[in-house]
Amino acid sequence: MFGFEIVDLSVPVDTWHMEGNKRYLDADWFAERLAPQISQLGVHYMSAIVDEWMACDIADYLMDEDSHEKPPRDCPNYYNPQRKLEVLTGRQKFCKLCTDKLRAAHPEEFKALNMILAAFD
Ligand SMILES: [Zn+2]
Repeated sequence: MFGFEIVDLSVPVDTWHMEGNKRYLDADWFAERLAPQISQLGVHYMSAIVDEWMACDIADYLMDEDSHEKPPRDCPNYYNPQRKLEVLTGRQKFCKLCTDKLRAAHPEEFKALNMILAAFD
């Protein structure tokens, strides 16, 4: 059984990464900086939903390499260059091309990603 609770946490200033004029949240460093707060909140896990560009090792090897600017827009690998909110907040599922690539290259991670997406059903 899972329970979800919304908490408002500040993003540590040093977790932002600038590349050119674009600002990214360094997800790995962000997670490391917030880890001590997990037990303080009395929970076992913490998930974050952000409306900023993110950079991290996992996202890089799983997602960025094969991101696409062409539809379907409800695929998590859709690049979403305009950062449209309805794309970010809408139900997502991997398109057939991304499903085939991820399932073949990273079957366990693909399964985990689909379980995360199913949490929003
Ligand atoms: Zn896709």
